[in-house]
Amino acid sequence: MKKQLKGLTAYKPGKQTDEVKRELGLSEITKLASNENPFGCSPLAVEGIQSVLHELQLYPDGYATNLRKAMSEHLGVAENQLIFGNGTDELIHLLSRALLEAGTNTVYPWPTFPQYRHNAIVDGAEVRQVPLIDGQQDLEGMLAQIDEQTRLVWVCNPNNPTGVYIPEETFVAFLERVPEDVIVVSDEAYYEYVTASDYPQTIPLIERFPNLVVTRTFSKAYGLASLRVGYAIGDADFIAQIEPTREPFNVSRIAQAATTEALKDQAFIQESVEKNREGLAQYYAFCEKEGLKYYPSESNFILIYFKASGDEVFDFLLRRGFIVRSGEALGCPNSVRITIGTKEQNAAIIHLLEEFVHEH
Ligand SMILES: *Cc1c(COP(=O)(O)O)cnc(C)c1O
Repeated sequence: MKKQLKGLTAYKPGKQTDEVKRELGLSEITKLASNENPFGCSPLAVEGIQSVLHELQLYPDGYATNLRKAMSEHLGVAENQLIFGNGTDELIHLLSRALLEAGTNTVYPWPTFPQYRHNAIVDGAEVRQVPLIDGQQDLEGMLAQIDEQTRLVWVCNPNNPTGVYIPEETFVAFLERVPEDVIVVSDEAYYEYVTASDYPQTIPLIERFPNLVVTRTFSKAYGLASLRVGYAIGDADFIAQIEPTREPFNVSRIAQAATTEALKDQAFIQESVEKNREGLAQYYAFCEKEGLKYYPSESNFILIYFKASGDEVFDFLLRRGFIVRSGEALGCPNSVRITIGTKEQNAAIIHLLEEFVHEH
């Protein structure tokens, strides 16, 4: 066994609904812990799935030809600038596998999405975590950590679990100072939800910065987390170099059919984004009224701080039928991360949180 696997634990996802129902004897439980889309997915995605149900015996198209074509048109990039993964999770895995090994290091903010760290450790690389400064990714601090052995730098924009984004000007100034042979990944899992006008449009930057790789996903705004489809956009030569690390049939036939169709329904995305904005406004109003610290969010979740442990808030909501994510496990003590739900779900959680705040 590789020595770095000692003490490493498997990813702990948010609690599963059925598990909680059984444990607490509740009949109704709402999970707003994993930033899934509370409005489901586009009906076109379901039609896409139905269209391939008669060919389940066939391997998927290993090159994801239809999805690739649709995505290249959607984004205005060449088909060979794209790579698809079994979720962004797999792309993080294969970028780490392609670039990291013992003697190299990777730089990323902390707290952030834990898979950058996890994969680097499995691949035997040194991890250099740069603490957030009041919720902001400390790009200056990250630059200071880059040296001859740095292969991979991660930014998460907007960042999970804070929801805070890096503006375009700041990000471009950062790219200008990262050495050309160091790959910078911009993880944009919440891209569709962003409404800030100075959020970076990164795809046009790839031409100027061939060391920039952008990752996005169908798991969040598209509401297709169960199908596991993420994609990366980068310089064609770089993408060609990492292709051999990919499993040949990594994106299922069902997933390819569904996402190709889902891409056509941008009205569904727009509606989800609009409702998400309204949901965020419900939470902002609550936080302002109660004087609770929070970060304005460019994503579909909000991190709220309390005068209590995040675990305590988590338990309080759990016993009343809502699963959220305690900040304790995410590196943000005294907070919880809540996925923005439907208007009614948000109102119900806010009502309970008012009760909690007044009791504590
Ligand atoms: C949810 C999330 C992902 C994982 O996305 P998948 O495509 O479902 O693997 C990646 N990065 C961030 C920051 C996320 O929040």
